[in-house]
Amino acid sequence: MVERMITPESGEQPPALYLHIPFCRSKCGYCSFSSFPCETPPAAYLEALKEQALFFAGQDWCRERVFATVFIGGGTPTIYGGAELAELLGFMRQHFRLSDTAEISVEGNPNSISHESLVQLRRAGVNRLSIGVQAFSDRLLKGIGRAHNVAQAREAITLARQAGFDNINLDLIYGLPGQSLEDWRRSLEIALSFAPEHLALYELSVEEGTPFAALEQAGRLPLPDDDELAAMEEAAQGLLAGSDLIRYEISNYARPGRQCRHNINYWQNGSYLGLGAGAVSCFSGLRVKNVADPGQYVNLIAAGKAPYHDSECLPLTARFRESVIMGLRLLAGVSLPLLREQYGLTPQDYYGKILDDLLARKLIEFGGDHLRLTALGLPVANQVLARLV
Ligand code: SF4
Repeated sequence: MVERMITPESGEQPPALYLHIPFCRSKCGYCSFSSFPCETPPAAYLEALKEQALFFAGQDWCRERVFATVFIGGGTPTIYGGAELAELLGFMRQHFRLSDTAEISVEGNPNSISHESLVQLRRAGVNRLSIGVQAFSDRLLKGIGRAHNVAQAREAITLARQAGFDNINLDLIYGLPGQSLEDWRRSLEIALSFAPEHLALYELSVEEGTPFAALEQAGRLPLPDDDELAAMEEAAQGLLAGSDLIRYEISNYARPGRQCRHNINYWQNGSYLGLGAGAVSCFSGLRVKNVADPGQYVNLIAAGKAPYHDSECLPLTARFRESVIMGLRLLAGVSLPLLREQYGLTPQDYYGKILDDLLARKLIEFGGDHLRLTALGLPVANQVLARLV
């Protein structure tokens, strides 16, 4: 019997639940995510995921808590049918306590979204849809190996509205090979014409081990240069300034009240339970990562073994640094009283001269009781954060 519930009044942020679907129709050239190409995703994977959920649902840590958000991410979750995802969500509801006002998100790609599946997801209580559009240009989509085209992206957004989704995120990428400033502007303008509640604008990052990394090494990846990237960033700020989307994180923009609560929990270094191949959980500094290979994940669970790849117990100072770095991604910054309360440390004491230097160069600033990036620091956020690791 549960004797006590941990509530926000207990001073602890409610945790998030993440379910990873590691399958996509094909693998994009830049992708470094945990995803494997397949045409028909295995039913056995969802069964294994549920099995892992059951294990955690039986632990007191989970039984004492109400989850504030659920995020089914990937990969491409919508590679499974709406009925399968609805059933998965129903299972989670049965075994975990979800808040009555839980934000429940599903990620999908335009080539695997249908009217029927969207209606099923809405009926199951999914109230936020994140669509991987990336670009409104068939030439660019083809160049990065996406399995969808612009017409499918437009249709997916329209179908989502028709199915009743009133909280839609569109992902877009800039800095793509062969992308001009005009291409980027056009993608943004088309995205804004759909009046999304949320936009995530990512700069392409060429990660080691991807086909793009090999092409770059061979000098065959025509990426925009730094000036072009800066112009794209500036164009985005200019276009979005005329919209109702407000930047609240380095790469994320939302209408008031539509910020992604699930991701805010990550940036505030809150606790989360991650189920599925390659998913990560973090509770009070204990971090556990599941094996990435879905076949191995299914086999380990079928054999009654824990599907963990590795785990670590983070010392207090490492957690403090993570809280600072993740929190600075938010435009509101990181709360100084909260850092003091959680770790008994302040950035001033911990970072000393490094912090003084960043403050003197006006890359970060104190705003009220928060430490945050400045307008000058935002475009070079990665370099600023790297100094605080
Ligand atoms: S759709 Fe996303 S997760 Fe899947 S291969 Fe492409 S980038 Fe990776």
